[in-house]
Amino acid sequence: MLTGKTAVITGSTSGIGLAYAKALAAEGANIVINGFGDPQAIETERAGIESEFGVKCIYHGADMTKPAEIEDMIETAVSTFDTVDILINNAGIQHVEAIESFPVEKWDAIIAINLSSAFHTMRAAVPHMKKQGWGRIINTASAHALVASPFKSAYVSAKHGIAGLTKTVALEVAEHKITVNAICPGYVWTPLVEAQIPETMKARGLTEEQVKKNVLLAAQPTKEFVTVEQVAGVALFLCTDAASSITGSMIPIDGGWTAQ
Ligand code: NAD
Repeated sequence: MLTGKTAVITGSTSGIGLAYAKALAAEGANIVINGFGDPQAIETERAGIESEFGVKCIYHGADMTKPAEIEDMIETAVSTFDTVDILINNAGIQHVEAIESFPVEKWDAIIAINLSSAFHTMRAAVPHMKKQGWGRIINTASAHALVASPFKSAYVSAKHGIAGLTKTVALEVAEHKITVNAICPGYVWTPLVEAQIPETMKARGLTEEQVKKNVLLAAQPTKEFVTVEQVAGVALFLCTDAASSITGSMIPIDGGWTAQ
């Protein structure tokens, strides 16, 4: 389905991003992976994608807080594969703390990585998509793009910002056969969620079990974590012709969380 197409996926050395990379590679797309981590582990994932799916996969280590590195990542994709057909903005971090003690540098980092990086990637990739008359931009937003939770001021602000950015760019490129959508997952079991458990225990004075049951899964009527493969399945659908009229949409995959 995606043979000959190129996908750039930010924050794809782990969690949801890595699942996107594998799902798109399984359909034949060449992949640019990005993100932090142990270099040997990243190389193992990169080589594994190539050998398992028979596609080309390169790694670019752009730091999503650095606009020049982001631009270089898109230009590297174009010089390697001739174009960028699919762009998935997915890199993200979290910090859980009350507003009055929320560290300023965490606010700045979350806004840069979870929101501004998508502006920089789109700004660089859209001209290539316009030139070829086809493109798919998918932003990993969150249920927190639609509703808020306490102690996540930066994250909720960045994710609501991504919703606005998604809708705006969707309107700008609508006549170029480029769609721009946001996937809004509820809680997905990844390192990002695991890492916020100690912070949430501290912020709310709860035990680990209480955080899982009373905070995380309390929001989700299914009482189950969403899986990375389920999120990747939505992204894959957005790349099909059947999804070509879906644009500017926020697509929840949250076990019923935002239906409440
Ligand atoms: P994760 O921690 O497994 O993955 C995050 C990725 O972002 C990693 O590859 C990491 O290296 C990369 N990253 C972090 N800082 C970076 C930087 N400065 N530059 C480049 N890459 C950087 O987390 P995840 O849960 O897979 O999160 C992926 C996305 O999904 C995030 O945008 C997150 O907000 C969103 N999301 C996650 C959940 C969830 O429950 N896990 C729910 C809704 C939305």
